[in-house]
Amino acid sequence: SRAWHLVARPHGWPAPTDFALRESPVEAPAEGRILVRNLHFSVDPYMRGRMNDVKSYVPPFELDRPMDGGAVGVVVASSAEGFAEGDHVLHGLGWREYADVPARHATKVDPEVAPLSTYLGVLGMPGLTAYAGLFETASFKEGDAVFVSGAAGAVGSQVGQLAKLKGASRVIGSAGSDEKVKWLVEELGFDAAFNYRNGPVKDQLREAAPDGIDVYFDNVGGEHLEAAISSLNVHGRATICGMIAQYNDTEPVPGPRNMALIIGKRLRLQGVLVGDHYGLQPRFVEEVGGWLRSGELKYRETSVEGIESGVDAFLGLLRGDNTGKMIVSLTR
Ligand code: NDP
Repeated sequence: SRAWHLVARPHGWPAPTDFALRESPVEAPAEGRILVRNLHFSVDPYMRGRMNDVKSYVPPFELDRPMDGGAVGVVVASSAEGFAEGDHVLHGLGWREYADVPARHATKVDPEVAPLSTYLGVLGMPGLTAYAGLFETASFKEGDAVFVSGAAGAVGSQVGQLAKLKGASRVIGSAGSDEKVKWLVEELGFDAAFNYRNGPVKDQLREAAPDGIDVYFDNVGGEHLEAAISSLNVHGRATICGMIAQYNDTEPVPGPRNMALIIGKRLRLQGVLVGDHYGLQPRFVEEVGGWLRSGELKYRETSVEGIESGVDAFLGLLRGDNTGKMIVSLTR
């Protein structure tokens, strides 16, 4: 069985040579464990942080060990009560072909209810991040005008649609290509969207939201956050979810230059960590599952085939090769 190991800690942009695909034998699962053949695993922006040797809310990847992360697969051998061969499970040992998983860390999922990969995306961790970050952290309410950055990504594409479904007055998104912008407006029903590479974010946001915004969902940081602070209305709220524009920076970046606006406008900027919000999971699955079945909520996945492509998929995610959730599939 092959697994991707981190073999050097990247400085700045990760290089393919920071990773190695290594082979190890597959063994029968010990008591309380299951052996899973992974069918899909997730590559996520937060994994970049785990490649640095710094204390954070998730521990760093260890060097010369398999990396981990969200995955779904099929049980091929079980030494745990309640799990049988052929069951499908969601678990945390991705980046590898076969996973030896403690059964208490595995959740059964049903491929009849939704395609397995969606448990890593629209019905999984990124989906819950969108749901919690918008409805809890940002205290979204009907009539709010919402701006989301990283809008064509897994989290962002869901944030914009959830806001529309719950009665936003206007939803604006930004993304890194004209094709993505077109998808947001023509397929997902965003009221406006712009390509942040086409001009200053501040100007493009002003134009897209002449009456300002009430909520900003930040996936990007930097110039986007500064522009949003300028456009936020009195009592506006921002969910600070991610700052992908700076994950590969090697020097600290200057903060927004307009922080003083927070005072007069009584803004609230609040971070979100999806891990705090698993209590919402039942409500999330019911509500979002319903919108998926009715076709009111759309999603896209960018699927890369084969374990060999795992690192390329991750690097591609950081560059913006994906529309919707980036998935590595091992189904062939
Ligand atoms: P995405 O599917 O959005 O993929 C990442 C996207 O980021 C790329 O597709 C790319 O799209 C965009 N991007 C890359 N570099 C830049 C840049 N310099 N400026 C603007 N956009 C850039 O990933 P996720 O949906 O999984 O995650 C989105 C954000 O949410 C990330 O910041 C992530 O860290 C955060 N997150 C936070 C969680 C939490 O609990 N706080 C949980 C999950 C995710 P483009 O072509 O548009 O540039």
